[in-house]
Amino acid sequence: MDKISIIVPCYNEEEAMPIFYEEIVKVAKNMKKVDFEFIFVNDGSKDKTLEVARNLHDKDKRVRYVSFSRNFGKEAGMLAGLEASRGDYVAIMDVDLQDPPHLIEEMYETLKTEDYDCVATRRVSRDGEPPIRSFFAKCYYKLINKISKTEIVDGARDFRLMTRQMVDSILELKEYNRFSKGIFSWVGYNTKWLEYKNVERVAGTTKWSFWKLFLYSLESIVAFSTVPLSIAAVMGILFCLIAFIMIVVIIVKTITLGDPVAGWPSLVCIIFFVSGVQLFCLGVIGQYLAKTYLEVKNRPVYVVKETEESKCKK
Ligand code: UDP
Ligand code: MG
Repeated sequence: MDKISIIVPCYNEEEAMPIFYEEIVKVAKNMKKVDFEFIFVNDGSKDKTLEVARNLHDKDKRVRYVSFSRNFGKEAGMLAGLEASRGDYVAIMDVDLQDPPHLIEEMYETLKTEDYDCVATRRVSRDGEPPIRSFFAKCYYKLINKISKTEIVDGARDFRLMTRQMVDSILELKEYNRFSKGIFSWVGYNTKWLEYKNVERVAGTTKWSFWKLFLYSLESIVAFSTVPLSIAAVMGILFCLIAFIMIVVIIVKTITLGDPVAGWPSLVCIIFFVSGVQLFCLGVIGQYLAKTYLEVKNRPVYVVKETEESKCKK
């Protein structure tokens, strides 16, 4: 009998969890030929998320949980879930029911009958999202796909069902700065895309502010593209060329026309502009250096405080 692991990262989701559990149990009931395990990853929530997970585990042994010592972010949550999973197939889902659970059955059938290793989902609409956010999201996907060799699919969600083989490949990537959308695509394998319209969350509020999303997008660019470094280098060369031409022009001008002391406005403008470019390039290099620094430190991506197994031993 096949087993499907459902990984659910949760951060302050005490309201949404019971609703999610009800729904996913319905799906599990329909799929009689499959075993399930539900892994809730408590990402250092400040509300009763952990208690809800414990209660669910007491009620239903298929529910497992991993609880972090603090908030490590959704990426860490997904990784912890993948590492804890034991199923032949593994799905990642949001707890807010923005990922329709009924799709699991269809995904599973597809993996069983067709030659795919992964069935992933993408949103084709962004209803219920602030227009400004949708606009920046569009720009971001255009940019990243221009400058990165790894394809980042527009509107792709983390909701997907994967085979054990693909999950093992993902777990081989030990990087600290994780950007899953890129990692899923980087490992390759055949992916089928299901499309659906955006669904609004059932309870609680979104954990992503505009600023958080912005930083996340910068992170993904640094993680999956080195084009900004090349841009910095090209800009450097360009400005050297301009400087060289200017030097020649100025020398010739001084020799032929003498040297009237004038033109500091232009000089100040040039200084401002060039130092701006320099600082920008330094910033770009700094970004990569910072990421390298974090990778080299080799810290764990998350710290586990409690799981359903450790709880039993106590
Ligand atoms: N999440 C998490 N850690 C965080 C932020 C979010 O585990 O630091 C979880 C959250 O509980 C939810 C999922 O990630 O299950 C998606 O978050 P959310 O619904 O807030 O994002 P959105 O759907 O608005 O993009
Ligand atoms: Mg959501």
